[in-house]
Amino acid sequence: EERLRRVRDRVRPFPDFPEPGVLFRDISPLLKDPVAFRTLIDLLEDHVRASFPKIDFIAGLDSRGFLIGPPLAQRLGIGFVPVRKKGKLPGPTESISYSLEYGKAELEIQSDAVEPGQKVVIVDDLLATGGTMCAACELLKRLKAEILECLVIIELKALKGSEKLNSIPFYSLLQYD
Ligand code: 5GP
Repeated sequence: EERLRRVRDRVRPFPDFPEPGVLFRDISPLLKDPVAFRTLIDLLEDHVRASFPKIDFIAGLDSRGFLIGPPLAQRLGIGFVPVRKKGKLPGPTESISYSLEYGKAELEIQSDAVEPGQKVVIVDDLLATGGTMCAACELLKRLKAEILECLVIIELKALKGSEKLNSIPFYSLLQYD
């Protein structure tokens, strides 16, 4: 599709970042091009509207999920909830530590971010191993949210991250091997 191509053309590959041997997919050109960025949000909006009649919140992952979550939530006329790296959110929080390729990280959500049973779509820019998205799902499950879907712009297929999400519905706009 023409719209997908316009978005794909604005994802830039960077070899050996942040480590030797890693091919980093950089979305900066997508953010810099207003037509491509609008097209991205159009595509995400179309997908979500076609899939779910009712959503309470978009939850976005620190930090590139913060770039696409709020504009998508605004389009849908719903609110945005941040899932942050540890130590950034005031008040009572739920936190979870998870393993990265090298070392560990911790994600947090405010305990009152969603009510039990509220319907949430979780967004991020990219799914690699799926560890980050899985941790975010665990936080939202602790708040008893109903996770409708995990939604990303880019899926790195070879890492099989979507398998880690088990039965949680997953959707990616663009796939790379
Ligand atoms: P995972 O936990 O799935 O292994 O890694 C996904 C997380 O790392 C996402 O929050 C994503 O922003 C970041 N990430 C890992 N690799 C890339 C990449 O190649 N490009 C971008 N834009 N983000 C990446």
